[in-house]
Amino acid sequence: MRQLGHISPSIEARIQGLSGTMGRVTHYDLAVIGTGSGNSIVDHRFAEKRVAILEDNTFGGTCLNVGCIPTKMFVYPADLARSARHAPALGVDLTYDGARWPQVRDRIFGRIDPIAARGRAYREGQPNVDVYDRHATFVDDHTLDTGTGAQITADQIVIGAGSRVVVAEIPGLDEVGFHTSDTVMRIDDLPRRMAIVGGGYVAAEFAHIFSALGTAVTQIQRGPVLLRHHDEDVSRKFTEIAQRQWDVRLCTTPTHVVRRNGTTVLTLSDGSEVETDVLLIATGRVSNADRLALENTGVATKNGRVRVDEFQRTTAPDVWALGDVSTEHQLKHVANHEARIVQHNLLHPDDLVASDHRFVPSAVFTSPQIASVGLTSQDAQERAIEHQAVTYDYADIAYGWAMESRPGDHFVKLVADPRGQRLLGAHIIGPQASVLLQSLVQGMSLGSSPAEMARGQYWPHPSLAEVVENALLELATE
Ligand SMILES: Cc1cc2nc3c(=O)[nH]c(=O)nc-3n(C[C@H](O)[C@H](O)[C@H](O)COP(=O)(O)OP(=O)(O)OC[C@H]3O[C@@H](n4cnc5c(N)ncnc54)[C@H](O)[C@@H]3O)c2cc1C
Repeated sequence: MRQLGHISPSIEARIQGLSGTMGRVTHYDLAVIGTGSGNSIVDHRFAEKRVAILEDNTFGGTCLNVGCIPTKMFVYPADLARSARHAPALGVDLTYDGARWPQVRDRIFGRIDPIAARGRAYREGQPNVDVYDRHATFVDDHTLDTGTGAQITADQIVIGAGSRVVVAEIPGLDEVGFHTSDTVMRIDDLPRRMAIVGGGYVAAEFAHIFSALGTAVTQIQRGPVLLRHHDEDVSRKFTEIAQRQWDVRLCTTPTHVVRRNGTTVLTLSDGSEVETDVLLIATGRVSNADRLALENTGVATKNGRVRVDEFQRTTAPDVWALGDVSTEHQLKHVANHEARIVQHNLLHPDDLVASDHRFVPSAVFTSPQIASVGLTSQDAQERAIEHQAVTYDYADIAYGWAMESRPGDHFVKLVADPRGQRLLGAHIIGPQASVLLQSLVQGMSLGSSPAEMARGQYWPHPSLAEVVENALLELATE
């Protein structure tokens, strides 16, 4: 029997049985490229459909394997480790005695890896589903080259192909060896020194993780602040706090990198050198739209991403897209939301629903946490939107006293219309920011005014949530 390569045994048998040659094309009702959020589309309601799932990497996609989930599983022990440093301010002496890195790592991947394997096995065991585990490309609007030697056709195709790491071009990089977010979580030992190139949220999270666990971190950022897309008060404050926690080099870039005496040495544009044991490049991600041979289709792209309308339809009939491959947000909850929209629209072609991107929250699990939704002050200024902004400090509420929150370090900033009747944005830096933000996301999504959010409900006293309540009450109302 001829081997078809990397293809699940059930489908290999089926193709061989059907055709006895490589030439035959199998037809499906639905084909899904990518097993991140795209994988969740295929539930019991598709039991009567023939489905192809195409995945060229680990089942489950970025979030499960190399993204949100493992990073946050590292952040939690890092938070514990860092808390020992803050405890003496409260009169409690804790010592941090170090991390058993292999145990930290293996606890995380010991849980994640089996989930990915089970996800794949589950799909391969479904009688109506075939899994192709090679890189898929389009032959035309309804035909895919599965990369396994077989072509397939499908009535409907969903592109959930995600995004990939972008590695900054630094002369010498390929010779010295480096890590990205795809690999750094699986290293063998906690390094003594780490240099992180990048100033975005991935860099901020890893700087927190490794520095809290005991690595001497140096973060190199081209611009004058870290997390520059955040509200200016938040990014300025975070930059200042980060500088207290690890070595931050601003307004500089690596000009080249070499190995010298067993050490990686980065030369920066300001003339300084950084010696490191591990080099982490965290300089962003780009949509995988350019790797799908979309030129063979009617699927258009915009700014490097697959172009979709509000129903997640691409410009080619019967081809849909969701998540990082098409959205500007690059967030798992957005990919999941869009997957639910695509799922509904596949099942109800005469009753399409639109995706809702009005109030998309994001959180950065660094130290301290940062969470944000809606317009920043800069956004409002750039768009000439009349607005007011208020901040309320954690240090000014009872729970902030309990935490000995340093004045000015942790706060809620709200951006609202001048009459105080509509919240336009909310930005929080401080402990539990990701949790605190949710009441504001809810209020904005449900159309509540700041006054309704503050006074239309109880806020448990003396919880941290009171900082949100007080910020809402600060807004000047007409
Ligand atoms: C370090 C890190 C931390 C993150 N933390 C958070 C967080 O805290 N919160 C949050 O909301 N988001 C976070 N994200 C972002 C989040 O992981 C992504 O937004 C989300 O996973 C995107 O889902 P997706 O389904 O669009 O794509 P993916 O999950 O990337 O799935 C796409 C899949 O398609 C496969 N594929 C691509 N092209 C092909 C092809 N041609 N043929 C076959 N298969 C293909 C890929 O291998 C991949 O498995 C993080 C990302 C990273 C890297």
